[in-house]
Amino acid sequence: MNNQTADLLIKDANLVATVDKDRREITSGWLAITNGVIVAIGGINDSMPHGNKVLSAQDCLVTPGLINTHHHLYQNLTRAYTPMTSKPLFGWLQTLYPLWTDNLDEEAVYTAAWIGLAELALSGCTTSSDHHYLHPPRAGDLLSAEIKAAQELGMRFHPTYGSMSLSQKDGGLPPDNAVMQEEDILSASESHVKRWHDDSHNAMIKIALAPCSPFSVTPHLMKETAELARKLDVRLHTHLAENDEDTEYALRTFGMRPVELLEDVGWMNDRTWGAHVVKPDDTEIVRLGQAGVGVAHCPSSNMILASGLAPTVKLHHAGCPVGLGCDGSSSADAASMWQEARLAMLQGKLVSGADAMNARLSLEISTRGGAGCLGRVGEIGELSVGAAGDVAVWKMDGVGHAGVLNDPIEGWLRCGPTSAWHTVVNGNIIVQNGELVSPRIQDMLTQHKSIARRFQPLESVQN
Ligand SMILES: [Zn+2]
Repeated sequence: MNNQTADLLIKDANLVATVDKDRREITSGWLAITNGVIVAIGGINDSMPHGNKVLSAQDCLVTPGLINTHHHLYQNLTRAYTPMTSKPLFGWLQTLYPLWTDNLDEEAVYTAAWIGLAELALSGCTTSSDHHYLHPPRAGDLLSAEIKAAQELGMRFHPTYGSMSLSQKDGGLPPDNAVMQEEDILSASESHVKRWHDDSHNAMIKIALAPCSPFSVTPHLMKETAELARKLDVRLHTHLAENDEDTEYALRTFGMRPVELLEDVGWMNDRTWGAHVVKPDDTEIVRLGQAGVGVAHCPSSNMILASGLAPTVKLHHAGCPVGLGCDGSSSADAASMWQEARLAMLQGKLVSGADAMNARLSLEISTRGGAGCLGRVGEIGELSVGAAGDVAVWKMDGVGHAGVLNDPIEGWLRCGPTSAWHTVVNGNIIVQNGELVSPRIQDMLTQHKSIARRFQPLESVQN
């Protein structure tokens, strides 16, 4: 490799935190990417190849691109929506379901995904999941609309075909016109997997199946979806043990707690990753860990909705792949993976003790742990030869970092560049010098504002 020329060379880093299997940290590091894959990585004593393109990482920390394991991109059309700003989960959802159901269409979902993924890229994210569970009649093909946005931006994308089948008339939470027939859900799930899911190494698009929650789908649909996921060999995702309302609903309706329900419907295995997982008890944490169920930890959302403090460190040590999620964007309401990583560190200390959580563990959760949730350890979420060329470069100079001398990784989350200096996905530069490379950002923001006005009743819009 060293006599050849790479497509992209990132060099002169203060530190490269690889988060590889040996957790190597390389001072004065560099890495080379060709055909979307890391082909060489090293330090000052290693022979460095030339690059057709070169990105300077001077005064920078280099990490794997961050992985967002739970999101609802369309919700950025109702961010900080005044009438629901102080409601817990069920009231929050019931305020917003009608606005979303009445207004979602392909253009809205495409535009929201484009802006949401751009926001994520600016925060160092290179792979994002999305849980899209609303498919109103005549809204069009919404999953394909958001995939188009990800492809145009160049983001690695794991959309899930989400679903709701249990409406108010049947004892569920969503309005009657927000749900689908279960046979339609299963056939749409299969057709989207067949159209979009890519099994290959370094794939840019993978699909998972994602019935929304115990209060919006039936156990029958959960079981049928698990069977379909096994047949198609794709992953399973759902909201799990999000708050006390969720637990009370499951006990009242099914006579069991959410984690017991997960087991009852055949989801207690390493094909599954759940969002939030705020309320498992100690016995359930052990069961989830033994089964290898992944956890998308969403600290901002859990605080805004007052859901609680998730036992993230316990879940990690129990054996669950724990990743990070922004969840929202109208419960979070920001889509910043750096911010979630910092909050995960702070909450982890608060819940488990100051020495039980640190910036390195939060970085691990934000990268390698996310890869575990998505079934891609060794492929994304680490910097190693053969892994995807997904990289975040964080500028560590300026007033915010004055005094950070001996531990740039702790400095990264304690002080904070807050946004990425460069973000590279599959070897392509998406963010450079802190700016989105795409020239379309202003036009897309204008379009987003126009669509968001349609979602939000005029009297609530302040400007
Ligand atoms: Zn969610």
